[in-house]
Amino acid sequence: MATLRIVKYGDPILSKVARPVEKIDGEISRVVNDMFETMYAAPGVGLAAPQVGIPLRIVVLDESVREGRKDRPIALINPVIKRSSGLIAAVEGCLSIPGIYELVERAKEVVVEGLTPEGEEVTVEAKDMLARILQHEIDHLDGILFVDRLPPSRRMMLRRDLERIRRGSIE
Ligand code: ZN
Repeated sequence: MATLRIVKYGDPILSKVARPVEKIDGEISRVVNDMFETMYAAPGVGLAAPQVGIPLRIVVLDESVREGRKDRPIALINPVIKRSSGLIAAVEGCLSIPGIYELVERAKEVVVEGLTPEGEEVTVEAKDMLARILQHEIDHLDGILFVDRLPPSRRMMLRRDLERIRRGSIE
């Protein structure tokens, strides 16, 4: 396994729509393992493949990282949000946007379908924190960052901080 470099705000890959995985093979399992290692090392509760420079629809997450553990790993390939309900705001951050934490409104509950790294179909029913992480990571696959979901006035106030991260990502 290897720790991958996490790309930062300003890298064009973060605003592109990622491609579906067409075939789950050894290469994909290696990517999933490396993504877990990278997420746990960061540490973070979720990571999407575009954040490590891979334009494929793969996410890994583990909400137990918030409690200093790593015992609830979930990896999803080609995940799709099938249903969502409720609305709740909570503070979010992103490994690609270091130092910025903002209140983001998201669905309280979601049902997500996808494939496991073994190629099995799986349905994840999630609420609260897990639902939030899933939505945040699946957004990455569509080139959407959490700051894109903020009210324009709030984004305006963050402009300078975001610009600083963008400049750092190009250096
Ligand atoms: Zn993120």
